[in-house]
Amino acid sequence: MPNKAQREHCQQPRPDWVPEDAGPGFATWVLEGVNPSGVTRSVGAPPKRRTLSIDDYVDGIKRRDTAILARAITLVESNAPAHQELGQELLARIMPMTGAAMRVGITGIPGVGKSTFIEALGSRLCDKGRRVAVLAVDPSSSVTGGSILGDKMRMEKLSRHIGAFIRPSPSAGSLGGVARKSREAMLLCEAAGYDVVIVETVGVGQNEVTVRSMVDCFVVLMIAGAGDEVQGMKKGVIELADLIVVNKADGENKIRAMAARAEMARVLHYLKAATEGWPTPALLASAMSGEGISDVWKSVEEFFRTSRQAGVLDQRRRSQAIAWMHSLVNEALLHDFYENAAVKAHQPEVEREVADGKTPALAAARRLLAFGEGVHPDAAVEADED
Ligand code: GDP
Repeated sequence: MPNKAQREHCQQPRPDWVPEDAGPGFATWVLEGVNPSGVTRSVGAPPKRRTLSIDDYVDGIKRRDTAILARAITLVESNAPAHQELGQELLARIMPMTGAAMRVGITGIPGVGKSTFIEALGSRLCDKGRRVAVLAVDPSSSVTGGSILGDKMRMEKLSRHIGAFIRPSPSAGSLGGVARKSREAMLLCEAAGYDVVIVETVGVGQNEVTVRSMVDCFVVLMIAGAGDEVQGMKKGVIELADLIVVNKADGENKIRAMAARAEMARVLHYLKAATEGWPTPALLASAMSGEGISDVWKSVEEFFRTSRQAGVLDQRRRSQAIAWMHSLVNEALLHDFYENAAVKAHQPEVEREVADGKTPALAAARRLLAFGEGVHPDAAVEADED
């Protein structure tokens, strides 16, 4: 039976969230202090997302709010000029909160076991109270039309872990564009208190070099019997590695994995180490059974201790930041040049001349550059002759 207060409340005008034909059993009264609009929100269309201010983003990231972090990453990934401006402002604001994480890159050919490995490693770290962010750099979608890393539901178990944050690769674009977004996402994750940031990439094309240039420690996963060519050994990927892990060292494959590891150790002996003062070790692991995973992590920690003490880590980060700035300058110059109206207009004809063998490549390049500078090439030639 409703009490007196409730009966009186029912006699008040019908709130707009109550159906017209609501009978006496319909709960048209609301407890004091409860927001009726909050009650109706759970049904029907989801509430419209509020636009966040820079302060909202910064506060959310400080509070380690993963929903805000995810939105902040979306903001820096956006190609819309207004978003880019806001994104850069946000990055400048969070900069003092970055830099404390261990930045670890992981690469390997498709099927080598990257996601299984990261899931096993990430879960262990989270169980020990660490906060782990996993980012992917996968520009393959722009080349092959399909993403190598993103097609399947990956790292399901880890994604349910309270201490983990998993972000798939920014969508299709040039490697440079994808890398920029991932670097910025990495900074946002660090500001949000993730103390290990794993950047995963597929071992194809130039991806490894790009990821190497944004992390402290670079781990290359391999498997026995996949062939040197396939695993990028001829491309020099081994020379980028701070740690080689021969994965799938289990069951019948264990003996072959042990032989592959020994061979790797022999090869590494003759190569210059990727990090000064840290001879790259080759280890065995089974991402599936978990065997060897903690030894891999011990080695990663040892790497950080050694290179931090020697000042190599600090030096690496400084030169990475400078190189990144220069690559952004290059990117911007190239973009401006190819977007220039005169260049756009003359590019097909200059390309045709080079293809037909009528103009040497260098002369054609100079011609195009002159258009980019707003000088008509013929005028440039005359000026040269003066
Ligand atoms: P990715 O493409 O490099 O991310 O590879 P996945 O993690 O998706 O693994 C590819 C396949 O190898 C899957 O079927 C995994 O179950 C399997 N796999 C991954 N790690 C191991 C391992 O340590 N041992 C064995 N036997 N299989 C593994």
